[in-house]
Amino acid sequence: MSARREFVEGVVDLMRVAATRLPVDAHEALRRAAEREGNELARKQLEAILRNAELAGGLARPICQDTGMVYFFARAGRDFPLLLELEDALREATREATRRIPLRPNAVDPMRDRNSGDNTGSHMPWVDLELTEGDGLLLTVLFKGGGSEYPSVSRVIPPIQGLNGVKRFVVESMFNAGAMPCPPVVIGVGIAGGVDVASKLAKRSLLRPIGERHPEPEVARLEEEILGLVNRLEIGPHGFGGPTTALDVKVEYGHRHPASLAVAFTTNCWAVRRGTAEFKADGSHRIVSRHMGVRRWPSAASGCRSRSRRPGLWPSATCCT
Ligand code: SF4
Repeated sequence: MSARREFVEGVVDLMRVAATRLPVDAHEALRRAAEREGNELARKQLEAILRNAELAGGLARPICQDTGMVYFFARAGRDFPLLLELEDALREATREATRRIPLRPNAVDPMRDRNSGDNTGSHMPWVDLELTEGDGLLLTVLFKGGGSEYPSVSRVIPPIQGLNGVKRFVVESMFNAGAMPCPPVVIGVGIAGGVDVASKLAKRSLLRPIGERHPEPEVARLEEEILGLVNRLEIGPHGFGGPTTALDVKVEYGHRHPASLAVAFTTNCWAVRRGTAEFKADGSHRIVSRHMGVRRWPSAASGCRSRSRRPGLWPSATCCT
């Protein structure tokens, strides 16, 4: 098998795991929320969400009928052999994943109002590329549902408002979103000098596992404070009330201009669909994110290649706990 074919197979495998199996951190956060939920209607929603996720994992079917738009976040070594054909290979993998998993075709040409039918099109899938040393690639896929993207908003606020203005903007944005993004959500917040950078950072912040705080204490405190404020809105699971509107808040920032403070707000719905794999120069891969119901087989330490699957027993499994 050529390195390109091995790579494409590995990306399809990664997309299958991400589309069908909740990350362990999301499952744990939903389970804890269900345990402490005192509002009966809200608790039933959380239990239905968990049951849905378990069925999807067991049947190797997408967690939600909206399988979302495809975002790739790639940290590529400058000597990764497929670097120049990376975007093309990711498009090929997306086409194959759409057919084989299957994924709902969600790429619509806005000029002609036509669906491409395979989740590819202009700037679709979106590829966010960072270069680093080495000859490997760390690749994360994020499926972003339409409902969770709908309330995304960015704005430049007067810098004099500072972080209080940021908090107000986020709480107001979540209030306006209501039940549209299928709460409980994970909120991504980007802060920068321009709305384009802030929006990218907000999306990238969603890659951090639920419960993992930002390494800088000031940012971590801001995340916790906004989480507390948002949960006082009592929108609750699917809008049924209760204290669990958001499972977490993530903040990423870039430096701003003295005269501009851009803030971006986005959400990930409860159907958190993200997964990460390491690829070697020969195209082989190892999934490094942890997903519900996916066993370490073979052991992660021994490496894991796409051809190592056990069909039938673990339909989408590679090597994660
Ligand atoms: S917002 Fe998420 S859970 Fe709701 S329909 Fe869209 S993809 Fe599914």
